[in-house]
Amino acid sequence: MSRAGEKEGIVVIGAGQAAAQLAISLRQGEFGGEILLIGAEPYLPYQRPPLSKKFLSEQQSPDKLFLRPKNYWRDHGIDLALGVAAAHIDPRNKTVTFADGREIGYGELVLATGTRASLLPLPGATFENVFSLRAIVDVHGLRPVLDAAERVVIVGGGYIGLEVAAVLRGEGRAVTVLEAEDRVLKRVTAPAVSDFFDTLHRGHGVDIRLGARLAAILGETRTTGVALSDGEVLPADLVLLATGARANDELAQAAGLACQDGILVDEFTRSSAPNIYAIGDCTRLPSRRYGRRLRLESVQNAVDQAKAAAAVLLGGPAAYDPVPWFWSDQYDVKLQIAGLSTGHTDCDIVGEPAAARFSAEYRCDGRLIAVDAINDARAHMLARRHIAQETEPTDAVALEGAA
Ligand code: FAD
Repeated sequence: MSRAGEKEGIVVIGAGQAAAQLAISLRQGEFGGEILLIGAEPYLPYQRPPLSKKFLSEQQSPDKLFLRPKNYWRDHGIDLALGVAAAHIDPRNKTVTFADGREIGYGELVLATGTRASLLPLPGATFENVFSLRAIVDVHGLRPVLDAAERVVIVGGGYIGLEVAAVLRGEGRAVTVLEAEDRVLKRVTAPAVSDFFDTLHRGHGVDIRLGARLAAILGETRTTGVALSDGEVLPADLVLLATGARANDELAQAAGLACQDGILVDEFTRSSAPNIYAIGDCTRLPSRRYGRRLRLESVQNAVDQAKAAAAVLLGGPAAYDPVPWFWSDQYDVKLQIAGLSTGHTDCDIVGEPAAARFSAEYRCDGRLIAVDAINDARAHMLARRHIAQETEPTDAVALEGAA
């Protein structure tokens, strides 16, 4: 029996972190069929985390981000169609149509389309000095405007907003962060961790406004500042919208695949349509470990879910139910998060926040479900092991919303 897709090849839509890992793992598993990655961006597959960190601050060349050099793809017989988007999928005839009208067939199709910035429905969001940050092209657009900017307003006190704030303070620019919630990083961390990052940023001179609602981006074609819902006006030479991301699942929806802010997949990365899989940020995956479906936006998930998909395509299915993990770098502080803290019943702080080395341990009914480690890589690694043991899925763990 031939391996999945061996005869007609595997086509991957998206050429980012997950797509690259899938192709690499397929070749490592000695998959001999054709592999084609279709990428809307004109770059070789690259990693995004440095976009809000070193790549932004050091103004590096794009090849520093590439996951593999050009030769790698050629030498491993992995075809890349870059700078062109896939516009349509026909699951019945097993074809993909490119935006330029070309059509190709597939044996197996993998969707790895990632996410895009969710933009605020405000006039001014498309002004020439208002940006979001997802791709190399965004940094290339943003950087020259930034170089001439003295005052920057960042909308959103999540990871990307805070990482960029740290870079910009390093450059001496005046930075205001607007956060609608009553603390930064509220969606992902405990109050003690939010407090730590709040103090860290204020200590570096960032003006953090909590409970701040953006009412308008002012200006005509360029922004001159923002207005808050309480009437205050903050002048700005550049506004960065760092208000989260949404899954690129429109192609899948149009092809009739089940989606719910993300392409629904099972633990074997299979979508609701035959011969179509999905991996990475664009998926909503089942976690028996956490008893619900998750949409994860992390390198860990892109890489590990891609490896799981490759294993399935190579004929050795292994259920994917990870302990998610993530990191964020701000100034000289490394935050490493293991597990998911949502639904915790207790949170203990271990170590000393004042010494910038501590952990927040989250438990649900006594079981360790997540740990945020600050400047403590060992605690993070141990946490990943412990959480895996303590959240080991059993048949008794129901999966909310499972079909
Ligand atoms: P992506 O890497 O986003 O790749 C998807 C690709 O698909 C894109 O190139 C897109 O253009 C392409 N595409 C979409 N639709 C089509 C189409 N129709 N046709 C062709 N191509 C298409 N994670 C961490 O764990 N730690 C971090 O510190 C961290 N920092 C980050 C900082 C920034 C600024 C950003 C943006 C992300 C960060 N992440 C971080 C998240 C991490 O980069 C993502 O989780 C990861 O890139 C997801 O991989 P992916 O392959 O699913 O999607």
